[in-house]
Amino acid sequence: MGDVGLFQDFEDIRASVRALCAQFPGSYWRALDRDRAYPEEFVKALSGAGFLAVLIPEEYGGSGLGVAAASAILEEVHKSGGNAAACHAQMYIMGSLLRHGSAEQKKKWLPHIASGTLRLQAFGVTEPTSGTDTAAIKTTAKREGGDWVINGQKVWTSRAEHSDLMLLLARTSAAPEGGRRHDGLSIFLVEMKAALGHGLTIRPIRTMINHATTEVFFDALRVPSANLIGEEGEGFRYILDGMNAERILIASECLGDGRWFIDKASAYAKERQVFGRPIGQNQGVQFPIARAFAETEAATLMTRKAAALFDAGEPCGAEANMAKLLAADASWHAAEACLQTHGGFGFAEEYDVERKFRETRLYQVAPISTNMILSYIGEHVLGMPRSF
Ligand SMILES: Cc1cc2nc3c(=O)[nH]c(=O)nc-3n(C[C@H](O)[C@H](O)[C@H](O)COP(=O)(O)OP(=O)(O)OC[C@H]3O[C@@H](n4cnc5c(N)ncnc54)[C@H](O)[C@@H]3O)c2cc1C
Repeated sequence: MGDVGLFQDFEDIRASVRALCAQFPGSYWRALDRDRAYPEEFVKALSGAGFLAVLIPEEYGGSGLGVAAASAILEEVHKSGGNAAACHAQMYIMGSLLRHGSAEQKKKWLPHIASGTLRLQAFGVTEPTSGTDTAAIKTTAKREGGDWVINGQKVWTSRAEHSDLMLLLARTSAAPEGGRRHDGLSIFLVEMKAALGHGLTIRPIRTMINHATTEVFFDALRVPSANLIGEEGEGFRYILDGMNAERILIASECLGDGRWFIDKASAYAKERQVFGRPIGQNQGVQFPIARAFAETEAATLMTRKAAALFDAGEPCGAEANMAKLLAADASWHAAEACLQTHGGFGFAEEYDVERKFRETRLYQVAPISTNMILSYIGEHVLGMPRSF
């Protein structure tokens, strides 16, 4: 998109990411998808090039850039046909540690997260019985001597098997009567290697996409008190802080997907001949692709606006949510247009369309579902009555 100076484009970063991604073509992702295997080489390459440490300040070994630069990286990964879900959380989960951790905690972990020697890319929030209603989580952490003892269960804890650290949300006290339901939740850094087999069990969940997601069980897992991040009982507020960044970054992945689908669809529509002419000559084929392009461009503007506000330290809840909503819709419409344009070949693995189609469908549900965003806009932006 020519942005006529409205927003920074990060073309140098984009070009480097494109060059890196060129080493991981469709055949690489296809083989992993078939085996539901983790893209270890890709993650190593991205991490080794420093791209996952862009949000970490320079004093801890990162590049100290903002969410706009991080968005450019993730968009390019997805635009190349790849998928950053295997490691994107390494970029932003550390935000809770950076903003709310003690000087000692930051010194201990951030330089290793920046170098990629420690992976902090598991985020344990969702539970089977609480769903979107985070205040209803049942995992507890109770003080015992110098430790916290954790009991409970999480579901959809992605990348748990590929993380050294997990940021865990647990209830440390009941919500105060008449107070806010989210009070009494705290966040911890769980050191996975030490925990495995000593109160932590991880079970992979096989899904329609290759996502390395899992369910995790805590059975009297002991976490040192030094691993509590920030103040006890304030954990929900801390993770909310990071959610705008997450929404903007996921929106950027959707934009990358959208652009991949549009490029692929328009190329095929120009080349595929049926009834002696390119299928793209038919407006029934052309228009859905053109509409998806317009939607992707519009969603790009909202995503860039949200990122610019975030990086300027301005409130951006509405923009971050709208960016995620619009970009997820744009990528889904582009996916649908691309698959339809390819006819039967859209279903063949070797075109990568069916894989990307499955992958981009996730964003209507996670990390926040479309309904929850609409509800946020209805209530918090437009002031309509709270519905739940
Ligand atoms: C592949 C994958 C990876 C994930 N990774 C992680 C992760 O790493 N860490 C983590 O903590 N979580 C993760 N999640 C969980 C994800 O954030 C949740 O699935 C998502 O927030 C929705 O929660 P739920 O599945 O419990 O749906 P539910 O809350 O049960 O909702 C089901 C449906 O009902 C709708 N709904 C519910 N209440 C309302 C209402 N009041 N008004 C209107 N509609 C409503 C929702 O929009 C949704 O469509 C992941 C999920 C998936 C599928």
